[in-house]
Amino acid sequence: MINLQGVAAAGGIAIGKVFYLGKEEFVIPKHRITHEDISREIYRLEESLIDTRREISSLQKRIAKEFGFDHAKIFEAHLLVLEDRVLIEDVIQQIKDKKINIEYAFSQSIKKYVNILLKLNDDYLRERVIDIEDVSRRVMSKLLKQKEVNLRDLDEKVVVVSHDLPPSQTANLPKEKIMGFVTDVGGRTSHTAIIARSLGIPAVVGTEVATKNVKSGDVIIIDGSLGQVFVNPPEKIIREYKEKLVKYKKEIEIAHVPRALKACTKDKKEIVVSANVELPEELPLVVQSGAEGIGLYRTEFIFLGRRDLPTEDEQYKAYLTVAKKVKPNSVIIRTIDIGGDKFLSRPEVPAELSPFLGWRAIRFCLARPELFKTQLRAILRASTEKNIKVMFPMISGIEELREAKKLLEESKKELKKEGKKFDDKISVGTMIEVPSAALTADSLARESDFFSIGTNDLIQYSLAVDRANEKVAYLYEPGHPAVLRLIKSVIESAHKNKIWVGMCGEMAGEPLFAFLLIGFGLDEFSMPPPCVPKVKELIRNIKFKDVEKISQKVIDLATAREVEKYLQEEARKILKDDFERIIMR
Ligand code: PEP
Ligand code: MG
Repeated sequence: MINLQGVAAAGGIAIGKVFYLGKEEFVIPKHRITHEDISREIYRLEESLIDTRREISSLQKRIAKEFGFDHAKIFEAHLLVLEDRVLIEDVIQQIKDKKINIEYAFSQSIKKYVNILLKLNDDYLRERVIDIEDVSRRVMSKLLKQKEVNLRDLDEKVVVVSHDLPPSQTANLPKEKIMGFVTDVGGRTSHTAIIARSLGIPAVVGTEVATKNVKSGDVIIIDGSLGQVFVNPPEKIIREYKEKLVKYKKEIEIAHVPRALKACTKDKKEIVVSANVELPEELPLVVQSGAEGIGLYRTEFIFLGRRDLPTEDEQYKAYLTVAKKVKPNSVIIRTIDIGGDKFLSRPEVPAELSPFLGWRAIRFCLARPELFKTQLRAILRASTEKNIKVMFPMISGIEELREAKKLLEESKKELKKEGKKFDDKISVGTMIEVPSAALTADSLARESDFFSIGTNDLIQYSLAVDRANEKVAYLYEPGHPAVLRLIKSVIESAHKNKIWVGMCGEMAGEPLFAFLLIGFGLDEFSMPPPCVPKVKELIRNIKFKDVEKISQKVIDLATAREVEKYLQEEARKILKDDFERIIMR
């Protein structure tokens, strides 16, 4: 048995067979051919290119049907690679000149092509390398008559093990066939981990070496709550985990029962528990989870995996759909937050040395006012439903907020002139996720209608820990006193200025921290849909005045470990037999 420890990314247990989705490495044969073989080899190349084109087109159609046209656009770049005459001519020339088989010639041409692109000082062309490698794997699988990996073709449920799951792949995940996944890279709040939690798929990320230690068909157990992975475990451990799984499923059922009940403490303090959404297919989960609306609607998916930008109308339709779906509850639409670990394949966001500190989110939007206003106009037009709020990510000071609000006002004026309707009183929120914003929360509160604390970023920036880097994941501590002090003071500043304050970072969905944050007076908690039932259950089982007292003590503790230990002790006293189930699992 191999036992691996990674980052606990999404709770739950999965026991099943490994489906290895590493980078498909083919063993490419090399042999000499005769002059007579040349035409046959060229024919094989053409046949493979046609088959691949057919495969990509049908994939494109299916994605367009299931997820919308925007998602399917990524394949246009793939189709272009197949039509690239320079590449095809180069392959044919090699076959003729060197008299080598097509598989080898093709692989050599691709290598040459990729090397040239990588050397060019052009981000757009460099990004095309991903498309070329992707397409070449498909062509190679046809030449070698090996089947290309498509998770949708799986006929049994599996645990996917891969180096990483980039956003373009997660958009196409067949949730019903995936019991869990394990990756080599990533931290708890990396894009991959967030998607796993939102879809309710147990996941361990950042194992560093998982792909080196498994092969398809191995038996694997993953414990997403503890970040543990067992490869080919003995019967005893399998039995033990099967029992745990049964227990876990029962607990989930219990937590799901009182879905319709309000999140209200025993001493009648009402708290809003809402959901985070990053993909449209999560919308049914929001309703099922019992969330009161959407506290964070990440709009990046509309911009994902395409070379062009979504139009105002496309965006308008997407925002209107979600507004109608959650009515009478509300949806907080966050303006795009590209950069960081999202959208690395977009030409507008060139690779940067420190992407999380670079041209990201509101910085990018303010530098591209036309792009930003297109989104703002779309949000405003959808706001006729009167349940949309808008918020800006990565605000680092009041000037950025003012500038963003100015563009919002300009958009309103334009729409008025054009006779288009919108909610003139739309609430405008500021995300507090940069320490400078947290420390100047009083002035930001005076010009905001609400706050939403983005702890995923606030933690990384205040502790100087890259949220997507598994090597420093041990330092990524939501319970660090510095983080807690910042959060507490943000809540106080908001309340002093009579605005409500929520949290949409992953910390809000972790019951132990929710226990503390209720005591800090947080008004709204927004989290991945699967976390909603437990946090609501927690709220119904405590008194605000008890956790308020506990939270006052916590703030004087010196380390995250002390904080967690103290919170666990206090929560156990209050929740008694329900403690393990609600807080620890
Ligand atoms: C956050 O930073 O906490 C947040 C919710 O935003 P994102 O994870 O999209 O950066
Ligand atoms: Mg953020």
